[in-house]
Amino acid sequence: MGSGQVTSSVSSELKGKHVTVAGLGVSGLPAAKVLHGLGAVVTAVNDGADERARAQAAELEALGITVRLGDGDTLPEGTELIVTAPGWKPDKPLFAAAQRAGVPVWGDVELAWRLRGPDAAPWLAVTGTNGKTTTVQMLASILKAAGLRTAAVGNIGVSLLDAVLGEEQYDVLAVELSSYQLHWAPSLRAHSAAVLNLAPDHLDWHGSMEAYAADKGRIYEGNRVACVYNVADKATEDLVREADVEEGCRAVGFTLGTPGPSQLGVVEGILVDRAFVENRHKNAQELAEVADVNPPAPHNIANALAAAALARAYGVPAKAVRDGLRAFTPDAHRIAHVADVDDVAYVDDSKATNTHAAEASLAAYESIVWIAGGLAKGATFDELVTKSAPRLRGAVLIGADRALIREALARHAPEVPVVDLDRTDTGAMRAAVQEARRLARAGDTVLLAPACASMDMFANYNKRGDAFADAVRELGSADG
Ligand code: ADP
Repeated sequence: MGSGQVTSSVSSELKGKHVTVAGLGVSGLPAAKVLHGLGAVVTAVNDGADERARAQAAELEALGITVRLGDGDTLPEGTELIVTAPGWKPDKPLFAAAQRAGVPVWGDVELAWRLRGPDAAPWLAVTGTNGKTTTVQMLASILKAAGLRTAAVGNIGVSLLDAVLGEEQYDVLAVELSSYQLHWAPSLRAHSAAVLNLAPDHLDWHGSMEAYAADKGRIYEGNRVACVYNVADKATEDLVREADVEEGCRAVGFTLGTPGPSQLGVVEGILVDRAFVENRHKNAQELAEVADVNPPAPHNIANALAAAALARAYGVPAKAVRDGLRAFTPDAHRIAHVADVDDVAYVDDSKATNTHAAEASLAAYESIVWIAGGLAKGATFDELVTKSAPRLRGAVLIGADRALIREALARHAPEVPVVDLDRTDTGAMRAAVQEARRLARAGDTVLLAPACASMDMFANYNKRGDAFADAVRELGSADG
């Protein structure tokens, strides 16, 4: 970082300004360094004072930055601007104090947005409850296939500050944004943006579903070319309607069905564009085949359509959509096919950490032995179980909150056999896979789509998926 490409007027305004960086960590540390480098008088504050925070504090103090550990709630004297970590809740006393004092609050995305130079790469932005990472990576792959210099940035991989200030030159950026980041990014204006879907999530942070939706909807503010929404999720279309966009910006829907004018959709196994074609009332452009999408599960085809819509909004030719989708491989633990054992497919979707994701995952297979459970994070399972019941051959439940899923199954799918593993030790996954094998018949899929977080049993969802894959391989080798 720090190639001196900062040419925005904001960077000169920050010189000498008293800026409080709220929260050390992934975004706070680089933000503090960048601000300090621009000549701001930086104070970094952090709630905790654990070992990691102390190490980060030492790093900043060595640069001459003031750090206050263990008190993230008091506004430092003389603060003129707060740059906050996205995860900090809006109801924290620090922000109330800032409001009283008339001090603006920016998140890491707002800072990056403001520091872009005048000729900076435009942003194609993606948010949604599920599918963000996948869609942004597909988008980057399509843009690359079109010969454009680009990267998937934001909530994944490269940080936005790095992308905006680094040596690397980009034509266009594929940007993943969380609802928290959007909350703190009031002046962001993307070239085009997509909201993939909207299901209750993080409501404790936002305060209500309305506030969560409103923060997601900010992604459409000031769009220039296209606001991309999900035809099957009316809430996303409502957000487009409420957004204040540049004149000429269009609402473009994506659908798994036949697309209408100004939509992308699917016709007989072909991904089709009826938005970015001449005379869209009569014409359609073939983009790719469903089989070009990896994996070709319905929700993932929706992700591909959203990525294609953003790429087409940027002017990418149809062929690059196909090439980019073919070149894309999903990150691990997202509907990853682990192995076939005795004509049963074993699929790892450990990343399905909430009910909305698990529902999409379960909709992708006909006959499933479902491995689920973990930390429910306040979720209820009635809707998920009701919708998925016809596809369930059986269920194997693990983890701390498995009783919630067991009870939902008893209420809505009493005929589905359930194995309730009363274990939360790490070896429980092996037992779960063995039980699943007993329940499965030829042609079935054993699907790990927990609908819960993993931290009751595993360090993270990666470890949970790895444990599943190891257990499946053991089955295979026991046979062999
Ligand atoms: P995010 O970055 O939003 O967490 P990911 O692309 O990492 O999304 O996918 C997370 C999980 O969400 C996947 O493992 C899958 O189970 C589910 N998922 C992906 N795309 C969608 C979608 N469009 N709708 C619903 N669920 C999805």
